[in-house]
Amino acid sequence: MVQFNTQLVHGAGVNDNATGAVNPPIYNSSTYAFGSVDDAPRWDYARSGNPTREFLERQIAQLEHGVQGFAFASGLAAIHAALSIFAPGDRIVVGANIYGGTYSQINEHFDRWGLDFSPVDTQDLDAVEEALSAAPVKALYFETLTNPLLQVNDVAALSQLAHRHGAIVIVDNTFVTPYLQQPLDLGADIVLHSATKYLAGHSDVIAGLAVAKEEAVANRLYFAQNRLGGVLPPAESDAVRRGLQTLALRVDRQQDNARAIAQYLLAHPLVGSVHYPGIDEEGDADLRKKGLKGAGGVLSFEVKEGVDPSIVLNSLKVFRLAVSLGAVESLAELPCRMTHFEIPREERLKLGISDELVRLAVGIEDVSDLLGDLEQAFEKARQSLSTPARRTIHS
Ligand SMILES: *Cc1c(COP(=O)(O)O)cnc(C)c1O
Repeated sequence: MVQFNTQLVHGAGVNDNATGAVNPPIYNSSTYAFGSVDDAPRWDYARSGNPTREFLERQIAQLEHGVQGFAFASGLAAIHAALSIFAPGDRIVVGANIYGGTYSQINEHFDRWGLDFSPVDTQDLDAVEEALSAAPVKALYFETLTNPLLQVNDVAALSQLAHRHGAIVIVDNTFVTPYLQQPLDLGADIVLHSATKYLAGHSDVIAGLAVAKEEAVANRLYFAQNRLGGVLPPAESDAVRRGLQTLALRVDRQQDNARAIAQYLLAHPLVGSVHYPGIDEEGDADLRKKGLKGAGGVLSFEVKEGVDPSIVLNSLKVFRLAVSLGAVESLAELPCRMTHFEIPREERLKLGISDELVRLAVGIEDVSDLLGDLEQAFEKARQSLSTPARRTIHS
């Protein structure tokens, strides 16, 4: 079998292309003709399956080392399908620090449908063991890297614990991608992606993917995909396929840039702390121990007390002030006001997401431009510190 980078470029091939086109066609057809009424054609109706989507689904299954992949209209649609395989009364232990949309889907939707969620700090294996043994449990759900503090969750250790209690393991691998880690190899049973982020990689499509390790789970995911119907359309399937072709190149550059920026921030007099597990060789060694080849392109930092993070953010010119991550362009945001504003302040502070925390999603630009942009933005914040009028604290 060909290696990972070749799989990114070529996929697994659906082999229905008679024209010689080097790219798989986008089939804009909602229905497919039967040869005769006795026929059982591979494709009949495009929600149930179509060749453009199948190309992407086979490719993500190949990249994540699963038996079958599924493409959805968004990451949240993929998560919805994965959680829909459970029944009322089923208990799911879930990482306390998960994507806000997932948190809301769990607490404001699935909770009403009778699923029982127990939150736990997935950094604390004893706490996870305790949560798993408290009552019968069907699944453990968590994210590979937490957002926005970039804590590394140990997929192998967590999977072992979960399996000992008969729970399946569902991992949201959005922040890591199969280029840096393949959770199914480490014991996970379902891998989920917001393909909107690194996999598509150009901030031009909303998409989700799910991959199952085993047939029985795959069949339940397929039912949820086909009957709940949140499928990814052909054009968007192709946009994700095209994005995937450059995944490794983009992530390599994003990581190089992110590490340089993390080191710059660490030495900056206005910065209190930096959260980036791949900050140096030692960090890399710790990542490798947990089965990760790198930390990706997202990092966060706290400005020192008294420094206004919004002056830094509002002054950036190359970084765009926007949520999302994993794309070619660099983005910056203030979690307490943007990605994490829905979490009550008390709870947010308990998770370690302070009012001073800034998140950067680093792109593939020249790192000197990114560093220069940060430098001039910090200079604006520094000037405001020494301007007496601005020193007054308005509460
Ligand atoms: C963005 C994101 C999602 C949701 O994906 P959408 O494509 O926006 O629906 C889920 N999990 C993580 C970790 C994300 O970053």
